[in-house]
Amino acid sequence: MIIVLKQGTTLEEKRKIIENVEDMGLKVKIMKGASQSILGLIGETAKVEESAFFGSPHVEKVVRIKVPYKMASRAFHHTDSVIRVGKHNIGDGSLTTIAGPCCIESREQLFTIAAEVKRSGAHILRGGAYKPRTSPYSFQGMGEEGLKLLREAGDQFDIPVCTELMSTDEFELVESYTDIIQIGARNMQNFSLLKKLGSTQKPILLKRGMSATIEEFLMSAEYIMASGNPNVILCERGIRTFENYTRNTLDLAVVCAIKELSHLPIIIDPSHATGRWELIEPISKAAVAVGCDGLMIEVHHEPDKALSDGPQSLKPEKFAKLMNRVRHIHDVCHEEKKTSDTESVAILHAVI
Ligand code: PEP
Ligand code: MN
Repeated sequence: MIIVLKQGTTLEEKRKIIENVEDMGLKVKIMKGASQSILGLIGETAKVEESAFFGSPHVEKVVRIKVPYKMASRAFHHTDSVIRVGKHNIGDGSLTTIAGPCCIESREQLFTIAAEVKRSGAHILRGGAYKPRTSPYSFQGMGEEGLKLLREAGDQFDIPVCTELMSTDEFELVESYTDIIQIGARNMQNFSLLKKLGSTQKPILLKRGMSATIEEFLMSAEYIMASGNPNVILCERGIRTFENYTRNTLDLAVVCAIKELSHLPIIIDPSHATGRWELIEPISKAAVAVGCDGLMIEVHHEPDKALSDGPQSLKPEKFAKLMNRVRHIHDVCHEEKKTSDTESVAILHAVI
């Protein structure tokens, strides 16, 4: 529910209305419109009648938000959220690239890949230390030793790092080493893990569950935000369908849907979405063309020897080419707002 206050409402009058709302057991998020104050009500608003606020002479209107997510919704935050990671901004209209191996395997492996992706212009280095493997007999990750290597590589190559947190047990440890905490698809609805993320302000990369609807995806973001951490980056990595030629089915429409429903940035992970390295570049181009805020791409210098996800890992030289090509598409799509449609289509044809 949103309460729009009349122009000229004094701070004292606004404070009284907020107290009134808090007495109902709700929290208030203060937002500023062009000329008015807007109060966003957070909590169990279903039982609250709009008429409860009509008695106040300072209330212009009361709008009920129909979607169950509040803090994650566009209605609560009209402008795009920009998430800062080190010196880099995610969601400010630029294209963020997160790249690196699926899992950290050794110092030599991580540092070789880190040097390559940094050289190609990646903004964030990824690497898993705790891996959610389907088989308990597959490599489970290097644990803390891997986290230490990741931090060291990040510092050496001056690039922020991102790694997956699988359980509340490792929260403090993972949080102390990484710049972005990744929550994997399998944990998207691990609600105790999501609530724990409210105790940090570090950005959370929340991956879409493999059978989650867009509403469930946003409700998971809401869990993190309602727990106290507004810094959520959404990541689409494909959903489970009957198709099994590709590892998952990439839902590209989610980018446009999220842009309408939410203010949070959304990035695309073509690696897990397709499971095939040869599809990464064309799918990345399509993702950038529909307006995603970034890409997360698995890169390995020796994919044949990778301990996980080799078939979907790009070799560094292929990644470098992809970076140049998606940059062009991103520029054209941004330019599109300023130039005529015909002109941008012609440029787009030239670069695809
Ligand atoms: C990963 O990014 O390495 C990963 C395991 O991804 P997902 O959770 O999307 O399967
Ligand atoms: Mn992987």
